[in-house]
Amino acid sequence: MAHPQSPQEASVSDAPRPKEWILGIHAYVPGKSSGSDGQPLIKLSANENPLGASPLALAARAEAGDPARYPDPASTALREGIAALHGLDAARIVMGTGSDELLNLAAQAFAGPGDEVLYVRYGFSVYDIAARRCGAVPVVAADADYGTDVDALLGCVSAATRVVFLANPNNPTGSFLPRAELARLHAGLRPDILLVIDHAYSEYLAPEQNDGALALAHSAANVLVTFTFSKIYGLAGERVGWATGAPALIDMLNRIRGPFNVSLSGQATALAALQDQGFVAASRDHNRAERARFVAALAAMGNAGLRPLPSEANFVLIEFNGALTAEAAYLGLMERGYITRWLPGQGLPQCLRITIGTAPQMDAIADILRAMAGQAG
Ligand SMILES: *Cc1c(COP(=O)(O)O)cnc(C)c1O
Repeated sequence: MAHPQSPQEASVSDAPRPKEWILGIHAYVPGKSSGSDGQPLIKLSANENPLGASPLALAARAEAGDPARYPDPASTALREGIAALHGLDAARIVMGTGSDELLNLAAQAFAGPGDEVLYVRYGFSVYDIAARRCGAVPVVAADADYGTDVDALLGCVSAATRVVFLANPNNPTGSFLPRAELARLHAGLRPDILLVIDHAYSEYLAPEQNDGALALAHSAANVLVTFTFSKIYGLAGERVGWATGAPALIDMLNRIRGPFNVSLSGQATALAALQDQGFVAASRDHNRAERARFVAALAAMGNAGLRPLPSEANFVLIEFNGALTAEAAYLGLMERGYITRWLPGQGLPQCLRITIGTAPQMDAIADILRAMAGQAG
């Protein structure tokens, strides 16, 4: 053997050395789907659609084509379908392996070592990873009672700021920044700062809750809006997202995205899902009704100290201020077969995020919380 040492004997200092900014990353923690003993749980931890996906999408997925062939690298038919639905120019749309890929590419294309990437406290945890992945410094602006504080964001802008991320509605808070406030944020940013508006939950909004993001992406050179098929379309497993913005922004993302980044079945399934806006409307209506019913059930618990934060998304973040703690509620729900999202790692040990599921699931969750709060009080 020519090797002087076995791999086990090689000293640590000989091993490949990751960049220091990569060492600073904590891997994304996904919502769990099984308990500690491996038993499957009802999963209300990842904001997936409890109604599944459109039957049209499922049929298209089953007939997606020959998997021995590469998919269309430009996702042409899918981009044209999206453009038609939203009244956009297909040339100003770039597809991603989930919107996650596009959020990372946006940071990578416009920020690097020595630069700053800005977002709100209690923002989507991928923004922290995206900032660190390219060597930039993450900067976190204070919230306003868990919501987005435009003045705090603008106050954090420095000469090194390159990218600002904002989810609207926001995850994990569910808060919504109205159009005038979003316009004020954009107007307060230098034109060389990229504003990424993450619309992962925008389809859950009522039509009159238009935040103006698409209009900004159309008219401004520094606004990118990202979307996903993972939430209301119920296609999280297919990994399809997209973004729109000025041609120069789209050009940059196209240069660095994976060449075949949306799979054959992803393109076919998402395109068919677009054709079923009835399913999207039914999902939105279901969410609105069940979210209101769940919030009312929590309110009816009186002084148990559970405070649901106002949500415009397909989940509710509950702040626990009484004898029942968020951790005890999380563990108690899990014991009874429901997995929710407790987020101490995001600075929210006092809160539980619960995805809006089916009506029986939401009834069961409310019953369990009521019983636990009664025992704790
Ligand atoms: C779920 C979610 C996404 C979607 O990620 P995909 O990679 O498209 O599945 C993006 N942004 C936010 C804020 C989310 O919660």
